[in-house]
Amino acid sequence: MSESTATPVEITTRPEPGRILLKAPRRGKPPKHLADFDLAGRKEFLTELGHPGFRASQLSTHYFDHLTTDPQRMTDLPAATREEMVAAAMPQLLTEVRTLEADGGDTIKSVYRLFDGALVESVLMRYEHRVTMCISSQAGCGMNCPFCATGQAGLTRNLSTAEIVEQVVAGARRLKSMQGLEQAEHGTEATRPLRVSNIVFMGMGEALANYKASLGAVHRLIDPSPEGLGISARGITMSTVGLVPGIRKFTMENLPVTLALSLHAPDDELRDELIPINTRWKVDEALDAAYDYYRQTGRRVSIEYALIRDINDQGWRADLLGKKLAQRGRGWVHVNPIPLNPTPGSKWTASRPGVEQNFVERLRAHGIPTTVRDTRGSDIDGACGQLAAAS
Ligand code: SF4
Repeated sequence: MSESTATPVEITTRPEPGRILLKAPRRGKPPKHLADFDLAGRKEFLTELGHPGFRASQLSTHYFDHLTTDPQRMTDLPAATREEMVAAAMPQLLTEVRTLEADGGDTIKSVYRLFDGALVESVLMRYEHRVTMCISSQAGCGMNCPFCATGQAGLTRNLSTAEIVEQVVAGARRLKSMQGLEQAEHGTEATRPLRVSNIVFMGMGEALANYKASLGAVHRLIDPSPEGLGISARGITMSTVGLVPGIRKFTMENLPVTLALSLHAPDDELRDELIPINTRWKVDEALDAAYDYYRQTGRRVSIEYALIRDINDQGWRADLLGKKLAQRGRGWVHVNPIPLNPTPGSKWTASRPGVEQNFVERLRAHGIPTTVRDTRGSDIDGACGQLAAAS
């Protein structure tokens, strides 16, 4: 649906402190799209639309491999039905409303309007040897973490699998067009990678609260082309704030995907306040589930820890975290302290100089590998906890 005909959804009201929304409000569903299904499902979908099932493979090649939805370029499809087939099987799901660049063009945030007017964001980050995309799994978030801009805006709705995948396809298309530009400018092959190699589910939303669609998206991302985008599962990070039943379910999928647990506090007293879901599943339950994830998949778990001045950055908390992680075993976990990205008008702010270093050193003294995460894009509100899709 074009921007002008979309019916804007009402703005979700700010949730009361501590109120968690595990189930997304029911709203109209986005149109079905090829990327919602695996290959067998796509054949059925095409048949339902009145086209031969085998066209699913051809359309998949165009979408996942050539990254195109332009019927004019699909010359292997019958000219008479091409336009209508593509319109029905690959409807436009995202309309770009804004793009912001930072870090000299290496960080690009895109704001998209969905079919019903809801807004979501994704961020593309180019590094020397990889390209990472941070994608959204929900419009808003129901977890209500008080320091997070997304959480403060509440949960509008779950995204469909195709709406999640489309963010990555849009990023991949952007890189492809950059490749053309860079070659035209320098007359040589690009020296840095121009394919999306890493995906983090750290944009808007709690991905495990939208389990089915997020899992479907993981499959579309890692399935080999043309069934999917063919991104290595090792390059994918599923992020959660600690939905223990979701972690346990995801463990059973046994995919070599990295799990990132946003812990932010090692003690229940503080975590109950910072991460309201902790009132349901406590620190030790979340850590046990994360440890079992490692045991099942062999993938080292990341613990995300936003350092907030005078709230969770004390040395004794670093020691408590180090102790809790070390007592579960060696080599299973890595901690990423993240300097908090201040949100406007918020009392939560980044730790004082030196405090971060002390926190890191104390964790390392417990034998825990620790790396301060870089906060790319913080000047365009494109870092974690800042994706609120203000238009
Ligand atoms: S920190 Fe993550 S889980 Fe918490 S409200 Fe923000 S987006 Fe949701």
